[in-house]
Parts: sequence; structure tokens; C-alpha cells
Amino acid sequence: MKGNAVRRELDDVGRFLFEPLISPRRGRRGWQLVSWDVEQGLSLILARNHHLILVELEASDPTLDCYARTARFNICARRHFSAGSPLDEADRRLVDGVVRVVRQREKRLPDFERPTTSRRMGIREIEVERVLIPEGANHYYLNPYVGCLMGCEFCYVAPRADFSRQLEGLPHLPWGRYVDVKVNAAEVLRREVVGLPPGIVRLSPIVTDPYQSLERSYRITRQCLEVLLDADFTPVILTRAALVLEDLPLLRRFARASVGFSIPSDDDRMRQYFEPGADPLEERLDALARCREAGLHTTAVIQPVLPMDPDRLVAQVSPLVRTVRVDRMHHVDRYLHLYARHGLEHAATPAFFEEMIPRLRQGFTAQGVQLDDMDNLARLLGRSQES
Ligand code: SF4
Repeated sequence: MKGNAVRRELDDVGRFLFEPLISPRRGRRGWQLVSWDVEQGLSLILARNHHLILVELEASDPTLDCYARTARFNICARRHFSAGSPLDEADRRLVDGVVRVVRQREKRLPDFERPTTSRRMGIREIEVERVLIPEGANHYYLNPYVGCLMGCEFCYVAPRADFSRQLEGLPHLPWGRYVDVKVNAAEVLRREVVGLPPGIVRLSPIVTDPYQSLERSYRITRQCLEVLLDADFTPVILTRAALVLEDLPLLRRFARASVGFSIPSDDDRMRQYFEPGADPLEERLDALARCREAGLHTTAVIQPVLPMDPDRLVAQVSPLVRTVRVDRMHHVDRYLHLYARHGLEHAATPAFFEEMIPRLRQGFTAQGVQLDDMDNLARLLGRSQES
């Protein structure tokens, strides 16, 4: 163990619950397990007939829609990286099999005692057994941390990440007030990349920001990038922090590397209202420009679309990026208080998104910026051999 680091016991919960699906002894007819994870609730990625199915286990809640309910979980299932394609009959049979496994095994999970809610800041150094999670052919993701001190109130992952903490018997802490630091991430990654086909690695898809302020002390993201460089993998970074610039010399050494910034408005007041822990928008635009000048592939994610002057945003961002993704605030009903606090209720309505999103998409297209939903990162990076 490194210093005060603790072994994360949550992996044991996932391994026990999914054991019949993970075990290589079991014959699998027509499907494969791509990976399993424990950081946003419990999840599995399954491959069938050249497409991927994401199965996610959330806390039991009868008020939320889901694919199936068990005694302890809501189980959600959908095609991965192909929003809009519903599960077909064979997919559903496969997911039904997963549901049966969960029902059989959840009875044997211990009752997780949860200490009372704490208001303290929780920075925990942990040692993990796995860090590079496959998510399809030559595609992976990697979270150097779990949790995010930027603490955007609309962060969709917060309830699921809290459920993971509950499964590990950790107290509830408000989102933005805890982070697990994977102090052995680079060491584990160095073992994992041996024998794996090089590919695209997303840092970090959602459960953390790889350049939150803790990175300045721990440099877990940097250490992982150094391993990826040696192994000829391609990092695809998404952040709200200009701290990524401190890794620019390292990123330039990759044959390909992509840096994307979330830029949800042109108006920094919106940043202060909705994501006050993240860097000012001007700093993000400057950092994006520096990444572009350094020859990196650059992207912007206009999400969640917040009140803005869309023409001004298009003019600011277009010269700095090759591709852009535009998306609305999901689950907006959960965040109405944020809008109401600043008299912005109109921006939480379907009419707002229906007006703003096409304007942005048309504006970027007119400027020659490629629209990409990031479902195909290989195409995004022009690496056809990995598609
Ligand atoms: S920066 Fe990203 S990961 Fe962090 S709280 Fe905000 S949305 Fe969530």
C-alpha cells in the first residue's frame, strides 16, 4: 500500500454480484462481456452482434423509469454509443439473463451500513485493481480520480457515484466534497496495457474531471498519460480546467491526442451560476487556443446549453476546434432550482433547447466545424484503422 492509501472494497461487491457473467468458465452464446465497472453505480458493457449494450444498476427507486427492478436495484439497459437504437428481442433476452443473475445473487450481498451524512471534505487515497476499462473495439476509458471538486450541481453522475459510495459503506457527502485519488493508477495501467491492442482512451467520460485542482498535487492524470504515451495509446481528454496546459509538452509527444473543453455559454455569469467551481470561460477559450496552436486535435462540448448569444459563441469557438458537440441539459426537471435562483426559468423549457440547439448546429456547420456526437471517436480523430 502507498502511504495511507486504502484498498477499494467496492470492486469485491461488483465481482461478487457479476461473478457468473465475469467468469470465463461459463459458455456464452452469441455475446461477450466487454467490461464491468463500479464507479457510477454498478455497470456492465456487453457485446452482441457487433453492437454494445450498457447495463447499469442504480439504487432502487420506484419513482424512476428503468428496464427492470430487483429487490435492491433499478436496472437500466440501452444500446451503448447508439442513442436512438432500441434494444431488439435478442438484446432483451440477454439483459433479462443479467437481471436473473442479479436477482439470484443480490440476496447474498451484505446489508451495507452507512455512517451518518458528513459535511466534511473527503479526499481518500485508494488503491485499485483495474483502471483501464474497455468499452468496445480498441476503445477504453480511464478515471484517474472518482469524484470532482468542481462540484457542478447539475453533474448527472452524482446520484450514481453516491450509490457506489453507499455500496462501499461510506457516508454520504455532497457532490463536490469528496474525491477518491487512485494513487496506484499508473502502476496498474502499466500492467494493463501490456498485451492490449492500442486504442483510444477517454479521460474522463463523466465521473471526474482529470484536471481538477487535486491534479496539481497528485499528477495521477499526468502519470497515466506517460504510460499511454509509451504504449502508443491515444488520449481523448475532456475538461473544464486550463490546468491541462501544464501537460501540453507531454500531449504534443503523442502521434494523436485530443483535448476538449466543455463550453456551455459565452456568458461567464452562467458559469458562475451553474458551474462556479470550474474555470472561467475566457480561460477555457484561451487554453483551447493554446492546444490548437500546439497541433492537438481540439473539440468543444456545448453542453449543457445554457443561456447565451449563440452567434457570439459560434464565432468564439469555431476558430479553435475541429469538432463540436451540442447537447441540452438532461434531467432538467431536477435542476429547476438552479434556473429559478437566477430568474432563468425560460432556459429550462423545451422551447429554449429547440431554438438554441439548431441555431448552434447550423452556425458551427456554416463555419466548417464538424458536428460530432462523439459516438465514434476513431472517426473524430481520423483514425480509420480503429473504427
Ligand atoms: S467538471 Fe464535470 S465531472 Fe466535475 S462536477 Fe462538473 S460536470 Fe461533473
